[in-house]
Amino acid sequence: MKKYQQMMYDRVKKTVEDWKNKGIVHEYEMYHFLHSIKGTAGTIGMVKLSEEAEALLDYTDAESEKLWSKTEWVPFVERIESTFEPSLSHLKSDGVEQPLNFDTPVRQTDVPFILVIDDDVEFVTHTKAFLEREGFQIVIALTGEKGLELFYQVKPNLIILDQALPDIDGIELLKQIFVKAQKDVVPIVMVSTSNCEENRIKAYEMGATDFIAKPLNLNVFVHFLHNRIRYRKHMLKQIGEDELTGAYNRKYLERELSTQMAMLKQGERMAALSFTIVDIDHFKTVNDRFGHPKGDEVLKEFVHSFMEIKAPTDTISRYGGEEFAIVMPNTPKTEAFERIKAWRQSFSNVTFTAGDDTFNVTFSAGIKEVTIEDEHLNRIIEQADKALYHAKETGRNKTQFYKEALEYTTLKDFVTIIIVDDDEVVRQMLTHHFNKRGEVAGRPVKVRTFPDGVAFLEGSWYQTDQQFMILLDGRMPKMDGIEVLQKLRETYGNKNIVISMLTARKGEVEVARALNLGADDYMVKPFNANEVAARIDRLLERMIN
Ligand code: GH3
Ligand code: MG
Ligand code: MG
Repeated sequence: MKKYQQMMYDRVKKTVEDWKNKGIVHEYEMYHFLHSIKGTAGTIGMVKLSEEAEALLDYTDAESEKLWSKTEWVPFVERIESTFEPSLSHLKSDGVEQPLNFDTPVRQTDVPFILVIDDDVEFVTHTKAFLEREGFQIVIALTGEKGLELFYQVKPNLIILDQALPDIDGIELLKQIFVKAQKDVVPIVMVSTSNCEENRIKAYEMGATDFIAKPLNLNVFVHFLHNRIRYRKHMLKQIGEDELTGAYNRKYLERELSTQMAMLKQGERMAALSFTIVDIDHFKTVNDRFGHPKGDEVLKEFVHSFMEIKAPTDTISRYGGEEFAIVMPNTPKTEAFERIKAWRQSFSNVTFTAGDDTFNVTFSAGIKEVTIEDEHLNRIIEQADKALYHAKETGRNKTQFYKEALEYTTLKDFVTIIIVDDDEVVRQMLTHHFNKRGEVAGRPVKVRTFPDGVAFLEGSWYQTDQQFMILLDGRMPKMDGIEVLQKLRETYGNKNIVISMLTARKGEVEVARALNLGADDYMVKPFNANEVAARIDRLLERMIN
């Protein structure tokens, strides 16, 4: 990894050198500079750098011809340089030790969101300005009523609550939000000028996490806030909860499944254990037709409807986007089948509305009954996944059990992975990864790379009887990825070519365009090679096996 980081460092240095010689830089050059850093840096484990580039991107426009003078562009570059690990920036290319720039605070994408409910305008504006400089984001409510509204709306990570409000008494407000705040692990920090014993006791009794006397010493307060936010994050992780659906997350799933496997092995307390993976059918269509928020609603309802049929010890965890895994202790597979059947029925009966449209959604399931011979977690997950795939293959809206017969052994062909990306780091890293791994979706793998779309389209790589997986960068010089995609589909159709676009943007327009033009999938940069491989595995499993 260090090697790629060094390459990245050298690239930044080189650009800066070029710019120093020119003096003046176009805004779009800055945009492309940041854009490519954002995409690649995260991929090679330089998360901070990627986040910094992303934050700065907001100030630039891809199309702008505007000229930036040195005084304008230097601060940007300094912020980028300041995020390199000290070990690297000491390495710099020209061999001269350079001072590190730690003046600018590193911005993060998961900025802590704080709601301040206080009617003292002077206090709140001053506090907001101070804390936002320190990397928090602050929303303000000057009344209790507004505070309540914002509490539900913006879902803050932490609340600063004044005890004396014009409309509702702070303590009264505390009472109203306490239960939900506690459930969501949101600390409530009461602040007050009247910090008599009685008030403090009342605040704690009503569920305030902390009570701090005004005036605040902001220099200390900011550390206090970081401390609380850190604690909150830790707690959330411990609970293992998925934010959108309230299901557990993948990490929790792994813990739970291993615990139950151990119980099964002990034998006394558990006779059978089933593991089920479920996946919503044609969920992409829901998103495409009714939008992502509607899709989110479906996901929430999906989990909700499971809660109504589940056995007390069943747990559901979000495994991937619209895939969930269910651990069912004390449940033989036939029972699991019946339970899932009941769920399939109730869920498919839920009618969703979007404007004038109504629609229903189904899902498919794969069940693997865990036995004492099963050793490996991943293997169990894989087997349930195979069963799920079989359910999809044979028509969806159904449940299949895992059977040995599902182990496909048709390994006759290999898969050629072609990486088309102008970024050498991405090419090298992925090539290295796949060569080392040797296989994808159970087939041996070959890797080829092209630095741009023209070279790729002109290259002689295609064979009618082979399977290709093409990773196509969305933005490249000479010919844009989208255009390459279009030509590719025109020329070769889609019989034996699976295409995934690599995009550094979460922008839905770009993604939609790629999908409409025949991409099978897309991956948002930054990514790590393991994720890419896992995703390709699953994609190919589904598309070619
Ligand atoms: P299949 O029946 O084969 O499962 O088809 P599908 O369309 O459901 O499956 P596919 O895996 O191709 O698409 C899954 C889609 O789920 C793609 C992705 O955009 C969407 N998705 C993943 N996570 C979320 C989410 O949190 N919210 C929403 N709205 N969509 C999501
Ligand atoms: Mg699906
Ligand atoms: Mg899916």
